[in-house]
Amino acid sequence: MANQKLMLGDYIWAKQLSGDEFDIPIGGKIVAVESSRVKIQDDDQKEMYISNQQVLKNMHVSSIKGVEDMINLGDLQEYAILRNLHKRYKEKLIYTYTGSMLIAINPYELLPIYTNALIKEYRNQNTEDLLPHIFAIGDNSYSNLKNSAKDQCIVISGESGAGKTESTKLILQYLASASGQHSWVEQQILEANPILEAFGNAKTVRNDNSSRFGKYIDIKFNKNGNIEGAKIEQYLLEKSRIVSQNEGERNYHIFYSMLAGLPKEKKKQLDLLDANNYEYLRGGKVLTCDGRNEASEFSDIMAAFKVLNFTEKEMSDIWCLLSSILHVGNIRFRSGASSHSETSEIADQGLNEKISKLLGVNKFDLTVALTKRTIYASGDQVVANLSKEFASDSRNAFAKGIYGQLFIFIVDKINSAISQVKGRGRGSIGVLDIFGFENFNLNSFEQLCINYANESLQQFFVQHIFKMEQEYYTKEGINWSNISFIDNQQVLNLLAVKPLNVFALIDEESKFPNGTDFSMLSKMHKQHSSHESYLKPKSDMTPSFGIQHFAGGVFYDTPGFLEKNRDSFSQDLKNLVLSSRNDLLKDIFKSEQNAKMKKTLSSQFRTSLEMLMNALNACHPFFVRCIKPNEFKKPQIFDRALCTRQLRYSGMMETAKIRQAGYPIRYSYIEFVDRFRYLAKGIPPSTKGGCRSSAENICKAVLEKRSDYQFGNTKVFLKHQDNEKLEELRRSI
Ligand code: ATP
Ligand code: MG
Repeated sequence: MANQKLMLGDYIWAKQLSGDEFDIPIGGKIVAVESSRVKIQDDDQKEMYISNQQVLKNMHVSSIKGVEDMINLGDLQEYAILRNLHKRYKEKLIYTYTGSMLIAINPYELLPIYTNALIKEYRNQNTEDLLPHIFAIGDNSYSNLKNSAKDQCIVISGESGAGKTESTKLILQYLASASGQHSWVEQQILEANPILEAFGNAKTVRNDNSSRFGKYIDIKFNKNGNIEGAKIEQYLLEKSRIVSQNEGERNYHIFYSMLAGLPKEKKKQLDLLDANNYEYLRGGKVLTCDGRNEASEFSDIMAAFKVLNFTEKEMSDIWCLLSSILHVGNIRFRSGASSHSETSEIADQGLNEKISKLLGVNKFDLTVALTKRTIYASGDQVVANLSKEFASDSRNAFAKGIYGQLFIFIVDKINSAISQVKGRGRGSIGVLDIFGFENFNLNSFEQLCINYANESLQQFFVQHIFKMEQEYYTKEGINWSNISFIDNQQVLNLLAVKPLNVFALIDEESKFPNGTDFSMLSKMHKQHSSHESYLKPKSDMTPSFGIQHFAGGVFYDTPGFLEKNRDSFSQDLKNLVLSSRNDLLKDIFKSEQNAKMKKTLSSQFRTSLEMLMNALNACHPFFVRCIKPNEFKKPQIFDRALCTRQLRYSGMMETAKIRQAGYPIRYSYIEFVDRFRYLAKGIPPSTKGGCRSSAENICKAVLEKRSDYQFGNTKVFLKHQDNEKLEELRRSI
């Protein structure tokens, strides 16, 4: 923006020179003007010099003040969104709307904004008169449900540590309070959470209380708007954590709570020692978690179990299975005596005995199930010996299998307590707390599933905002017929729709006895290389394939894919658990046994995702996008690059893109006249009224006749080029 007048006090956008990877323009106020440069002050109150060449343009009035709803940003661009959030975050305003979407930035400090008094305000007053808030989303969904009887859903997304689970809890707290019954079932629904968090959350490097599963809680209301019950759906628990953890991470909270909280005599009975005695708890080299009192958590969990009708016997069986898992983790194998083939045996027979007793199985059977494998081939059975290494894999599969089934049992049991709903009632509000888009240095099968889920949710989101934008144009009386947008159907086709799609190929190869990760990959390359969303690695030697997702390209490393997808628990181990005298152990595997052919992990996940998408599609949606402002878990630090990446991953930018496809710049008639009235002769100030015809006169006088701008019921709608022309003229007078 050379050779143009830059005025003291003006707000401008400027290109950053020492920018981060995204190079998002910064906004600031001019505090000094020199001949070839200006000094600006940014949102962290930092001052810096900007050369005239770096200056991009003047800031739209709406950005200067900041807005509570970013739909009202006259210039809805990535940099304007980022600055608006930054400015508000500095003022401890962590919530901002974009239409029906709420952006929530994790404050990493307890703000005084979650009191019961505030819940009442959001319930009793028009939420439009109050600050943006998660309670307002709760209230809008609740009011919508009451007024329209249409089911509602709230989709909460964001990366690990961004605040999804806290937001979910706040919404549940709001809904329970709005429903206002203090009923037993409300209590039960709220008490489900400590149990789910104990068994499904763990300390990770990103979050001390990271949910390692996704969940959808559907809350059902009766005709009077009271909570009547709920149903919880869970997705993809991370089972690998049971047997190994990255440095600085822990296993699931429940193990540490159990060891800290069980009475002495019970611990003795289960042969339990402290946490540092167990291989499965030592992997991450940390045993404690800041801010968590394991013993008091344990009594909370026990109390919650009781509220949710778990019997004494069931609880006792649960401790028994968890203890067994810890003991199983300590099993070591040594090479066997046989010289013919590699064999293995359990090194510590005492341990073997202990575990057999706890699991109620024969100790000889346990040894055989862990160290040998029956192979079924064309009607024959052959028993093969497992080497030390394979026996260790088998041990880990055993522990993971038991925990995975136990988790499913616990969720089912909770559901049987809370889902006793009579009739259809008024309808329901569903809250989805699910992993956001992931792109790590190494991405595996889990990331593919997670990103597929996000790809589906993104399509749901884009369709919704496009519809909202259309409705907005209609409300303003504006013709929008030639505005189109591109969604991500192509990627979804590639992943799961077209013949021999990515998931179909993985499944096919998983069922094929000779299938390997390698054979799967070569089929994948052969089938999809020409697809626009399929990425081939630079070198043919790299065992990976890539997908161009809406949030960016991700390469998936294929080694381990098939095993993860098969999610197998050998028939020998299955026979073992079915022979058990421990009722719970037998029960949790019974249903598996009944399902004739065990489904692969991806097909289970796709089925549950499909059901979720069908449910969401039948609802009126709200979206909550949680953002993690920094990697230090500290308040008041806004890392622009980190936030930009999340805004892109969240699909937020689609709102901007859809806006760009139509009329991106908007001014209310008053704003427009105030800003541009000197560009034409004889236009009265906005205070004199008649702003709409004033605006029409200004446009007629200044803009090209054939230019594409429109006058809505309350606003002027402009394309970028016309806005720039207006701004240029404004500066030159
Ligand atoms: P994950 O994907 O790992 O489960 P998440 O998005 O569910 O992450 P949370 O567990 O909800 O993240 O939040 C992480 C931490 O951030 C919380 O334990 C809490 O310390 C803090 N936090 C989140 N939201 C808020 C809030 N509204 N107010 C205060 N602190 C918060
Ligand atoms: Mg969580």
